[in-house]
Amino acid sequence: MQTTYSVVIIGSGPAGYTAAVYAARANLKPLLFEGLVKGGQPGGQLMLTTDVENYPGFPQGILGPEMMDLFRKQAERFGTEIVRDDVTEVDLSKRPFRVKTGEREVLAQSLIISTGASANWLGLPSEKALQGHGVSACATCDGFFFKGKEVLVIGGGDSALEEANFLTKFATKVTLVHRRSELRASKIMQDRAKNNPKIDFIWDSAVESIKDPSQKKVTAAVLKNLKTGAVSEKKCDGIFMAIGHTPNSDLFKGKLELDPKGYIKVHDGTLTNVPGVFAAGDVQDFKYRQAVTAAGSGCMAALDAERFLENQHA
Ligand code: NAP
Repeated sequence: MQTTYSVVIIGSGPAGYTAAVYAARANLKPLLFEGLVKGGQPGGQLMLTTDVENYPGFPQGILGPEMMDLFRKQAERFGTEIVRDDVTEVDLSKRPFRVKTGEREVLAQSLIISTGASANWLGLPSEKALQGHGVSACATCDGFFFKGKEVLVIGGGDSALEEANFLTKFATKVTLVHRRSELRASKIMQDRAKNNPKIDFIWDSAVESIKDPSQKKVTAAVLKNLKTGAVSEKKCDGIFMAIGHTPNSDLFKGKLELDPKGYIKVHDGTLTNVPGVFAAGDVQDFKYRQAVTAAGSGCMAALDAERFLENQHA
């Protein structure tokens, strides 16, 4: 016999845990699958950051993993059943929906998807070794730590230019490194960056490696000019990757409406095109991507699910 839950939540970042707190306090006894769709770790992207200083209510800041632990405890306190497992398949063709993991299958009267997005990385061993030690994929989160320092931003899209502009509030110099000689970003963002005296550009170049993992800090980037093949070293104190994000939505391809980049399409708050399925957090948001906005949309999804379930019984 499969158990039927009123609310099943997939994903354990700020959106998922907040949805769980609200659903549990509404007595809906939610089940939350913690495993991330794309083989990440429970807790989402905040598990990869160090200090979070922009989440309201923590005036001294808090470590990302510590914060996620508190979110989890709060969800548990009100009776959320938490399962550490990856969801491998969903059937959304009829209600109750079927949610499968390798081990089990459950039925869900409503489903909240909060599987997040993953920042894209270059995939260099030195980049991995220095994540949280000067290599970041979030200027809003980590820019403050580079007051009076020199940083690089990698990428040529809107995010890269937005991050570069933002970082000039702290850094003395921001150098944007792009693999082509043309930016992909919108003209307005390009103009803003090109008119900012603190921003320099290095064109046609790729990062080959980042120094220096043995010192546990960033001291320079080894760059290769893709046109000439010349290799050079650019001194810096931090490197921000802005080469796009990938929403963790593979599981829902062909089952929910996604935009061309794979983000789940929502309307009227957190409603997807399948009644009873709601999406919250970064899996449906490429614009704000903050812990606090993800948590806010998790709350909205739980309220939307509660209302949906009430209407089914009305
Ligand atoms: P994006 O537009 O996909 O740009 C990614 C950039 O990273 C591109 O310049 C790409 O180079 C580069 N890149 C990708 N893989 C790379 C690799 N392996 N090595 C080196 N460079 C690599 O992503 P985004 O900037 O995050 O923007 C995503 C969406 O959000 C876009 O639609 C954007 O307009 C929107 N957005 C809007 C705003 C705003 O309006 N304020 C702010 C942020 C984002 P190539 O150009 O050579 O492909």
